[in-house]
Amino acid sequence: MAATILNGTKIAGEIRAEVAAEVKALSAEGLHPGLAVILAGNNQASEIYVRGKVKACEEVGIRSEQHTPAENVTTAEMLQLVESLNERDDVDGILVQLPLPPQVDAKAVLMAVDFRKDVDGFHPMNVGLLSTRRPGLVPCTPRGIMEILKRSKIRVEGQEAVVVGRSDIVGKPTAMLLTNANATVTICHSRTRNLAEVCRRADILVAAVGHAGLITRDFVRSGATVIDVGMNRVTEQVEFDRLFAGDAKRAEAFRSKGSTLMGDVHPEVSQVAGAITPVPGGVGPLTIAMLMANTVRAARLRRGAGELSRA
Ligand code: NAP
Repeated sequence: MAATILNGTKIAGEIRAEVAAEVKALSAEGLHPGLAVILAGNNQASEIYVRGKVKACEEVGIRSEQHTPAENVTTAEMLQLVESLNERDDVDGILVQLPLPPQVDAKAVLMAVDFRKDVDGFHPMNVGLLSTRRPGLVPCTPRGIMEILKRSKIRVEGQEAVVVGRSDIVGKPTAMLLTNANATVTICHSRTRNLAEVCRRADILVAAVGHAGLITRDFVRSGATVIDVGMNRVTEQVEFDRLFAGDAKRAEAFRSKGSTLMGDVHPEVSQVAGAITPVPGGVGPLTIAMLMANTVRAARLRRGAGELSRA
């Protein structure tokens, strides 16, 4: 039987509507959540991502502002900008769009962001708060994955979860959230032996690798839930044929565009999985929705919760 498709676009829409209602309620109390986005240099992909984030802010009523230092910006200038945003009370969230120009010390810039405004949840303080189960800001994509599971009523407690990928942005925080939700979690990476065998243990399999179609049907236990985080652009005809043989609709789109977007999970997996997120339209839409949710959370936590006060 074909897997149930977990519709990320629909779930993200629900979350955005909830965030919009919360922003409205906060505004009535005189609190107007604001997000500052720093886009340094001339990276075209980054410009597109930032445009999407600013538009999402407008749609839910979050005030947003963009700062666009030039390609030749120095680390000192970036730090000065971050510090000025840290000090402003009307800025609740600060997002530093990566990658930064090569001469800038990206780690130093990210560390300089006040962790109470770190809406990406990358600051070591937020990593520590997550690990010790205290209120903080959690990275957007992992938080989105948990929302997909929760809102699709997929049981996590007591389940075997396998996360393929151990990045600070996706793999590790996802594994931590699953652990906190009482799953039994295994983290895999490029040195894992017998990857397919380990993945087959999973009731919930999360693929966050960046390798088109790596997860084939022999990695997946029948009925498992598969969360595909990967976003890979396939441009080679040979690879397209290996992954999408017989898919006439996609073949036509591939011919006209010269590429197709796909995840880390091979299309054949939908024949064995119980539920699966599509790419596009699965995890991706949740990432921006959770950025909106994190901005509102930052606004609330900074004004209320003692545990987030600056240490
Ligand atoms: P990353 O930092 O490159 O990490 C990739 C991870 O995969 C690493 O831990 C790496 O292992 C592991 N890996 C690589 N090849 C492997 C293999 N053959 N077998 C097992 N593990 C392997 O990537 P990321 O930032 O986590 O992103 C992962 C994917 O998710 C990318 O396609 C990215 O575009 C996508 N993504 C999507 C969203 C969204 O909103 N949908 C958000 C973020 C990222 P090592 O640690 O041993 O090198």
